[in-house]
Amino acid sequence: MSLWLSGIGVSRGIAVARVQKLHAGDLDIPERTLDAGDLEGEVTRFVGAQRHAREQLHEVRDKIPAGTPSDVAAFIDTHILMLDDRSITDTTIAHIRQQHINAEAALRRTRDALIDVFERMDDPYLRTRRDDVEHVCARILRVLLKSERQLPAKGDGVEPFVIVADDITPADIILLAQQHVAAFVTEYGGPLSHTAILARSLGIPAIVGLRDARRLLREGELVIVDGEAGHVLVTPDDIALDFYRAKQRSQAQYRAGLVRFKGRAAVSRDGMPIRLLANIELPEDARVAEENGAEGVGLYRTEFLYMNRKDLPSEEEQYDAYARIVSAVSGPITLRTLDLGADKQVDSGRSPGPTPNNPALGLRAIRLCLKEPELFHTQLRALLRASALGRVQIMLPMISNLQEFRQACAAIAATRDELLGEGHAVAADVPVGAIIEVPAAALASPMLARHARFFSIGTNDLIQYTLAIDRVDDEVNYLYDPLHPAVLQLIRRTIEAGDGAGIPVAMCGEMAGDPKYTRLLLGLGLTEFSMHPASVLEIKRIIIDSDVGRLRRAVAELLHGTDLQELRDRIAALDEI
Ligand code: PEP
Ligand code: MG
Repeated sequence: MSLWLSGIGVSRGIAVARVQKLHAGDLDIPERTLDAGDLEGEVTRFVGAQRHAREQLHEVRDKIPAGTPSDVAAFIDTHILMLDDRSITDTTIAHIRQQHINAEAALRRTRDALIDVFERMDDPYLRTRRDDVEHVCARILRVLLKSERQLPAKGDGVEPFVIVADDITPADIILLAQQHVAAFVTEYGGPLSHTAILARSLGIPAIVGLRDARRLLREGELVIVDGEAGHVLVTPDDIALDFYRAKQRSQAQYRAGLVRFKGRAAVSRDGMPIRLLANIELPEDARVAEENGAEGVGLYRTEFLYMNRKDLPSEEEQYDAYARIVSAVSGPITLRTLDLGADKQVDSGRSPGPTPNNPALGLRAIRLCLKEPELFHTQLRALLRASALGRVQIMLPMISNLQEFRQACAAIAATRDELLGEGHAVAADVPVGAIIEVPAAALASPMLARHARFFSIGTNDLIQYTLAIDRVDDEVNYLYDPLHPAVLQLIRRTIEAGDGAGIPVAMCGEMAGDPKYTRLLLGLGLTEFSMHPASVLEIKRIIIDSDVGRLRRAVAELLHGTDLQELRDRIAALDEI
């Protein structure tokens, strides 16, 4: 009899293959008290394990095949850097020396404390760094405990398999991807975890959060994995096998066909040009973005430069990073100023202050920058200096009122004068815009549009704040609904406000890169989409196939409805237009 299991589908695609389980990453960590005379020997053992783990990661990095997306190597680099981070090394050594405990127990204490810090962060992307800490510490722990994860051996004629694990590290994903993996199924993780992001960029179907997967699935049994629906079908019958194999073939044909859109302009059937831009996190992503036909960068999240370190990045360090990106992109590039929350100050060695009860509603993003002018000033100097090298625009995050926007603009203008006075080059025109991600900003968008040079709609936060659901809280994830009429009204209002004032309006939240919503967004009047570089071709294909005029008329009508189910049905019917 067949059995259906459900998790969270995080990387699309169908796989039909046998189960291969990876043994648990949860390690049994013993704690021993050591004599004073044994402490230095234990420190040496820890440092040796760290060195061995580092060598393993370098080996993984060297094996990355040519043509693999650059963000894959970047994940490994992040782990190599983190492995040597003083917050792991020094703290663990201090635990050994001060608490007289063995290296494994000391590292566990370090890991738990770091994870605690990351878990209190309100930004979901940064919170996924918690997984990095866990993976890096697990790698050292496995060396210390001599229990390295056994990956299935590669050999001629080895069938692709569905890897089932508690969790999978980015490094393991890369190794496994070279071994012809059909799909990944893990018990933990969410759609923003690095496992999910990597699976998507490698194009491997994946399901996360399928609790008890290792208990429910047997080694070697045949399963069907549907990475979009998040389903695993165990011991499928012939009818199911035929159905999914046919689906698999048609998806493969579809993907192969997308390559032909590389050189084509994103113009709709009825002649409306649409601008496709990329969201990038790391300087290396810029190249992939251009290769896939993005016209520029719609969102560069600068907070990555501030992560995994005790000190703040200097002006020169920031300038180098921004200059690299600005020089690599020929189109416009939107640099978002720091979107850090109050709790993230701990990382950079400043006074942490009390932990806020609701960090997502606290001292975050522009609020923090206005409260800490020096922090903002250093970043603005670096951003404005980099503006001389290309087409830079500055985007301010989490704007909730005009006052904040004006204050930030005044800081930018003063910094610009200062730089020019010092003889630095600054671009003649650096447009300043706002990311619209707080409902108040969307509602007040007609007024903000008189001052901002552009808008970009940040649906990830706009949905969280409009529907009052924490976007990282599993318990309320089911309420996270981009199609909620309130969300659609706010998107619509923001686009209309931008059009009314003659300023461009883009969207840089995940919704913009999700093909399910492309026609709806075109119908709402959106003409600029910014997304993960890997999604660009697919969204372009839909645009080329759409009639924007008809979509606009259809969407204008459906927004008047009040029945939620009817609204959903009518949105689904837009696929025909
Ligand atoms: C958003 O909120 O939609 C957005 C793009 O910003 P982030 O995901 O970085 O909060
Ligand atoms: Mg946001």
